[in-house]
Amino acid sequence: MSIYEYVPHGLHAAKVKPERCKASVHEPGRGIFIHQCQRKPTRDGWCNQHHPDTAAKRRVESQKRWDAKQERSPHRIIARLQGRIKEIEAELASRKETER
Ligand SMILES: [Zn+2]
Repeated sequence: MSIYEYVPHGLHAAKVKPERCKASVHEPGRGIFIHQCQRKPTRDGWCNQHHPDTAAKRRVESQKRWDAKQERSPHRIIARLQGRIKEIEAELASRKETER
């Protein structure tokens, strides 16, 4: 999920408040209604949660979690086992060759 700067749309949208974090957030339960983040800005006009650095770090972490989850998925486990079986089969085949 990307974080966007709050920009008022339409006549009834609230103006940008410089004393607040400049991120736009979705109001839960109000459809597509968007408002400016309520938190105080801590760095570069963003709050801790919405700072682009934090968002990028969060994306990296969620990618890592996703990769780890993929690694544990039955599909990947089967693929790994199939690879291992092929190795063992190849090894057994080469042993039989030398025995002859
Ligand atoms: Zn914020």
